[in-house]
Amino acid sequence: MAPVNQRNGSDTTYEAQKQALEKAGHEKCVFHHDLELDHRPPTREALLPEMSRAYRLLLTSSGEDPDRQGLVKTPERAAKAMLFFTKGYDQSLEEVLNDAVFDEDHDEMVVVKDIEMFSMCEHHLVPFYGKVSIGYLPNKKVLGLSKLARIVDIFSRRLQVQERLTKQIAIAVTKAVDPAGVAVIVEGVHMCMVMRGVQKINSKTITSTMLGVFRDDPKTREEFLNLVNTK
Ligand SMILES: [Zn+2]
Repeated sequence: MAPVNQRNGSDTTYEAQKQALEKAGHEKCVFHHDLELDHRPPTREALLPEMSRAYRLLLTSSGEDPDRQGLVKTPERAAKAMLFFTKGYDQSLEEVLNDAVFDEDHDEMVVVKDIEMFSMCEHHLVPFYGKVSIGYLPNKKVLGLSKLARIVDIFSRRLQVQERLTKQIAIAVTKAVDPAGVAVIVEGVHMCMVMRGVQKINSKTITSTMLGVFRDDPKTREEFLNLVNTK
């Protein structure tokens, strides 16, 4: 595995790296800006009736009879499922961090690997899933360990592309504890590829974001990769 660093010309300071990331690929979209961490569509539950109608129309337009027994309640069920798959829009980093940032003089690398991830490809509206490994080098503050998994949840339970998910997780950890560096590696299996036969069933997409010392110092990066790659 050879993670690619996201290099941006000669900007080498951590601040410049963060700013470049926050600007990168910004999309004009009412439902989420590219790297905006706290976006929420308004009143999610209120979306349910309209979503159900849309699913009913989808059934009709794909040649099905939405009134046959097996499908009568499908539009509502499907709408509820979609709300669940995108529930990350209902969560903010601030709520999740709530009282879980601690002052600590720990300056050794913290790594949590193989965090389960389930997300929805925003190009095809089908799932992608896999594992996330996160490392950071604390700078006087540490995060409750379970919170790293919660951060993955906030950003994976949205319509996503894997590259953006990877960056958002890295930026969220940066915002949470302002560490000396953050590394995030995401391994994903995309059903839009697997089920449509574009690639082989077992192919994985690997994305990484390295910030701060993980980007500037090959030894730190190597230590992280070794920890992540040990079984
Ligand atoms: Zn897709």
